[in-house]
Amino acid sequence: MTLPLRPELVGLTPYGAPQLDVPVLLNVNENPYAPPPAVVDAIAAAVRKAAEGLNRYPDRDAMALRADLAHYLATESHVDFLDASRVWAANGSNEVMLHLHQAFGGPGRRVLSFAPTYSMYPEYSRDTVTDYVTLPRRADFGLDIDAAIAAVHQVQPSMVLLASPNNPTGTALPMEHVRALCEAAAQLAEGCLIVVDEAYGEFRRTGVPSAVTLLPEYPNLAVSRTMSKAFALAGGRVGYLAAHADVVDACRIVRLPYHLSAVTQATARAALAHHRELQAQVDEIRAERDETVTWLREQGYTVPDTDANFVLFGPFADRDAVFESLLERGVLIRVTGPEGWLRVSIGTPQEMARFRSALVEVTA
Ligand code: PMP
Repeated sequence: MTLPLRPELVGLTPYGAPQLDVPVLLNVNENPYAPPPAVVDAIAAAVRKAAEGLNRYPDRDAMALRADLAHYLATESHVDFLDASRVWAANGSNEVMLHLHQAFGGPGRRVLSFAPTYSMYPEYSRDTVTDYVTLPRRADFGLDIDAAIAAVHQVQPSMVLLASPNNPTGTALPMEHVRALCEAAAQLAEGCLIVVDEAYGEFRRTGVPSAVTLLPEYPNLAVSRTMSKAFALAGGRVGYLAAHADVVDACRIVRLPYHLSAVTQATARAALAHHRELQAQVDEIRAERDETVTWLREQGYTVPDTDANFVLFGPFADRDAVFESLLERGVLIRVTGPEGWLRVSIGTPQEMARFRSALVEVTA
């Protein structure tokens, strides 16, 4: 059969890490701690209540959820300017990013980012027929800020994507770099949105700032967050962004009607009401992350500083062989990043002990 598939999609396979049934899952940066029973009960009760009204469409604008998210983010970031009009929510921050591309990308437009970075970025561009342009990061995976500013003027992108902490390197950006890029972007005649993707924001090391605090100063800044990581709610599929209300209104134009199901909205609101319990292990994960970095460096690996719940390490002459040998020992990590590197998500102390002993074995 001849299908009229868009030529740029011919031969492509769907994005996604292998979903395998192995004992130690350290490959997609999930929170290893399941929601505690009291939170499971609260979510189940909220979903039960929502089920009573499932004959009706859900709140199209998800106003109550957006107000709850605004309240959570304002409290977490110690700011007072956020309300529902400045917060957008969707099915994972992947969908938030897609909405931004649908609204601000498109044919004849360019998105600029800095490689290596999150491997979905080129896919959002492809799917919205936007050109995706990258500049390499420095050897330490930070930005060459002068080159980045020059690229904003030269490429004239409609959006700049900055993952901070960056996936797969863990690198967080200094606020001076975010500010400098917001200022460069503001000079473009056609306008340019700076998007800081803080999917891993809650795992930042002490003293590392969040771009949320810059929002009042820069109307061309959007900060994306997710409930998938620190909140331990990857299965709930809820992401959100904070920005100027005009950015939120642009997302509202391109979203599908009723994009967030009543079940999703109820789940997310119940989870937000219990955010402390859900995030109870974030400090433990951060400590385990720092110990993993130290241990890997002691083994002689190169490890960039990381503010996320994962660690990039290498180099390996044959990273695929190391990945396969770890998998044979029940430990699933991720082949990602520049050639020769591997990424491991931070699991429980027991899971990390299994990772360490398996790595020692396979590299002996
Ligand atoms: N941004 C980054 C940098 C990510 O690593 C991820 C998940 N791997 C996402 C966004 C999307 O996550 P979600 O759709 O679950 O919010």
